[in-house]
Amino acid sequence: MEVHVQPTTRSKMFCGCAIGELGDPPNSNVCEICLGMPGVLPVINKAAVEACLKTALALSCEIPRHTKFDRKNYMYPDLPKGYQISQYDLPMSRNGFIDIGERRVRIRRVHLEEDTGKLIHAGDKLQSAKESFVDLNRAGVPLMEIVSEPDLRSADEARDYAVALRTLLRTIGASEAEMEKGQLRAEPNISIRRSGTDDLGVKTELKNINSFRALHHAIVHEVARQVEVLESGGTVVQETRGWSETEQRTFSQRSKELAEDYRYFPEPDLPPLELDPTWVESLRRFLPELPGARRSRLVSQYGMAVTNAGFLAADRELADLFEDAVAAGADARQTANWVIGEVAPERKLVSAKYLAEIVMLVSSGSITRDQAQEVHAESASTGKAPSQIVSDRGFAQVSDESAIREVVDAVMAANPRAVEDYRAGKKQALSALMADVKAKDPQANPKVASDLLRQLLG
Ligand code: ZN
Ligand code: MN
Repeated sequence: MEVHVQPTTRSKMFCGCAIGELGDPPNSNVCEICLGMPGVLPVINKAAVEACLKTALALSCEIPRHTKFDRKNYMYPDLPKGYQISQYDLPMSRNGFIDIGERRVRIRRVHLEEDTGKLIHAGDKLQSAKESFVDLNRAGVPLMEIVSEPDLRSADEARDYAVALRTLLRTIGASEAEMEKGQLRAEPNISIRRSGTDDLGVKTELKNINSFRALHHAIVHEVARQVEVLESGGTVVQETRGWSETEQRTFSQRSKELAEDYRYFPEPDLPPLELDPTWVESLRRFLPELPGARRSRLVSQYGMAVTNAGFLAADRELADLFEDAVAAGADARQTANWVIGEVAPERKLVSAKYLAEIVMLVSSGSITRDQAQEVHAESASTGKAPSQIVSDRGFAQVSDESAIREVVDAVMAANPRAVEDYRAGKKQALSALMADVKAKDPQANPKVASDLLRQLLG
């Protein structure tokens, strides 16, 4: 699998142009260098090199001391230079790996290159206006290319691998890796083999897949297509294929070029790049804890379920919030549940100190869960301290049985029908009675109230 990732940088790979935003006017973030004018000189973006090295280190790659850029020559209307600056025989890193569940996927290389522009065909829908336009805002945007060895064995593994890469890239801050924005594009190479043999058949490459769903579907369909071709006596030809989301099928785009066709040669306008080992080591030292390691630690340190640990470890901000709130005194299990159930869905972020306060207010029984949700939402939007909100709004929880007994008695007296239904076996009548208890006294501890109700209903 080849994955192209846009590292987080302010400027392009070899010029000072801004990366810009998706809706920017066409050809507004361009200069002589990324427009491919003759006689201009590219300059290497240090931030892109740093992001690429961090990614390679997080994937346990070897970092060589000497690396260089090369020209990959081909003609295409969205590539005004007539070549892409990429890396050929001396990439920035080699021989890494990442573990996906039980499967170790070897990483062949992670190298740096530049993106191309974009063609817009106006005649696709309107038959009358057959015009094509080119937008070069993306030309020269840095890309890291992450190439794996052929170790993935199924569509599921391929998707899990892409998801794991996204998590890793976000954790180390190398890329935002938003697939919808084209910041992470997957190109799976697919071949099949007869069961019981080791020889892989001829491979096809699927181009520019930009969602995890499409990646999974495209591989499933391409495998089925190759099986059908072979079983009907045909041969699979090496080619690049596209994936049509609307038709749910792959289709031939062009026969695959061989590396020799590109006539790679060293980029004469850039000096070879010497990677100072001291710099590389300092990048390694400052890598944060990686998602796989953090998931295992969350399980062993807090006794957390593996799925919850995986959920938190995949999101550095949430995992940090969880650990900081526990350090501030909140119970680990309840904090994990609160972060996953209340903070994550709408990203209602509060500080770790406030989160710990909210969790402790619930676990001590001082306020109800419903009240805590309101406190949380208000604290997240106003920044007010939870204790302040509780006292301003007069929130409290009454757990005293005799006080709740009065409310429960009154509710039962007012709803003889529901009481009868419950006693006749319609257990769902309990929730109607509980709703009335809550409406009559929002501070009543719901656990005490429902226990009491059940007991009185017999
Ligand atoms: Zn430029
Ligand atoms: Mn590439």
